[in-house]
Amino acid sequence: MNKLLFIPIKEISREIYGGTVRPSEICKASIKLTSIVKPLNSYINVTNDVAGEQANSADERQQRNSLLGQLDGIPIAIKDNYCVKDKLTTCASRMLANFSPGYNATVYEKLRTQGVVLIGKTNLDEFAMGSGTVDSFYGPTKNLWSSEVLSQFYSYGSDDSQVTTRKFHEKDTWRIAGGSSGGSAVAVATGTCCAALGSDTGGSTRNPASYCGLIGLKPTYGLVSRYGLIPLLNSMDVPGILTRTVDDAVLILNAIAGPDQADPTSVQREYVPINLSETIDISNLRIGIPKEYGVQGISEEIAKCWEKVSCLLKEAGASVVPVSLPHTDYSIVCYSVLNRCDVASNMACYDGVEYGHRANEWSSIHELYKKTRSEGFNNVVKDRILVGNYFLLAENYEKYYVKAMKMRRLIAQDFDVLWNSNVDLLLTPTTLTEAPRYDEFIQLDNQTQCLIQDHCTQPANMAGLPAINVPIKLSCNKLPLSLQLMAPLFHEQRLLTVAKWIEQTVRFPRLELKNSCLLE
Ligand code: GLN
Repeated sequence: MNKLLFIPIKEISREIYGGTVRPSEICKASIKLTSIVKPLNSYINVTNDVAGEQANSADERQQRNSLLGQLDGIPIAIKDNYCVKDKLTTCASRMLANFSPGYNATVYEKLRTQGVVLIGKTNLDEFAMGSGTVDSFYGPTKNLWSSEVLSQFYSYGSDDSQVTTRKFHEKDTWRIAGGSSGGSAVAVATGTCCAALGSDTGGSTRNPASYCGLIGLKPTYGLVSRYGLIPLLNSMDVPGILTRTVDDAVLILNAIAGPDQADPTSVQREYVPINLSETIDISNLRIGIPKEYGVQGISEEIAKCWEKVSCLLKEAGASVVPVSLPHTDYSIVCYSVLNRCDVASNMACYDGVEYGHRANEWSSIHELYKKTRSEGFNNVVKDRILVGNYFLLAENYEKYYVKAMKMRRLIAQDFDVLWNSNVDLLLTPTTLTEAPRYDEFIQLDNQTQCLIQDHCTQPANMAGLPAINVPIKLSCNKLPLSLQLMAPLFHEQRLLTVAKWIEQTVRFPRLELKNSCLLE
């Protein structure tokens, strides 16, 4: 079982179809592993009851030879900002600490009907506002790669010699998981599930994927339904996918993509499932290296990785060309404005009357709103609401919101110019460094960190483009270093093909559970 939890979904499915393992056995092992890695705080709620029922149903289907496909019996996790019927859906906020929705998010409903087993709901920055999973009502999530849990329970896969197990010293402080989908990333990295859903508005899926050594896919805006994903910035939110391999990400994407009547912003055209071949030829591709992504603050190791992968692509026959996206530097500033305007509006419904936290205050409805909202939200959310309302004042609207929207168009046009000049893909860093130390990360406030953390990821959300994080190698500190690929709208097939080529070429080290950590 120790090995089984880390192999690709297709192979686990083969075992299930072959009858060598029962979904309920996999489920039991996954749940046991969640308690072993509990110190990392990746789950807000482990959903034992749902998981047990779903695994038993999968067992029955296995017995009757009526399995539903490759996802039947596969353990997954979901970020706690997706609605799951009658299950706590907290957004890592006191405001929703006791909230259970009456319906399922479309993405979960689609996965459920294909037989997945829901292991739990994962930790995040409150309402997905952040880039570290350090601003959660339930406490921060720790990165597996920098914790004692790694040296105690995990080893590197036998096929890789570039690493030796990291030694821990008293003075070692733990690293952040990245965010805001840090809980989902750690849930996958630790092997408690094969895949997890994150959300990505400015980088929240790709950032933790980068710091945790995972594939992190942000699909084209509108390709995957947002129904049941509690909104942050409606015109940029997309469900994200975190997995250990590109093939696993493809399986999940194929399961959740496609039009949805319940989400008017989902693209109303039939989804053609992606199918990647094992032998990949990249020799006819033109890959752009945008100079604006080589910013100050980029670590020497990331810069070297970027150069190294560019060389590998060139050696394989691709043409790798320097390009420019001149409005990149304005992207994150405009995002801050647009984000706060949407936050001011989206958070207005949390008033203590209909659902969510309600303060013990009976003097007047006004006082009830005031006390409920000041108790329910953390300072990051409160800040964003206040600033958003300021931007939306009649006298400021043109100056901030409209101006940011105009700039958004220019940023999207920068990409169009490249795609129209035959650039097929872009290669950039995802994050500027390896995972930062927690104590150093929290020296800067949430907003300042977002400016740094989201620099490379956020422009894809501005333009709605698909983008993916691909882990490349371990740093001197034995922490994951990653890069990002971006593609034109709806070119997931091309994006994932090249991601798979990089994956096959760089062979990022795979983790396994040590034999001493027996899961039966
Ligand atoms: N860090 C960004 C923010 O806090 C993006 C978050 C996200 O993608 N959900 O707004």
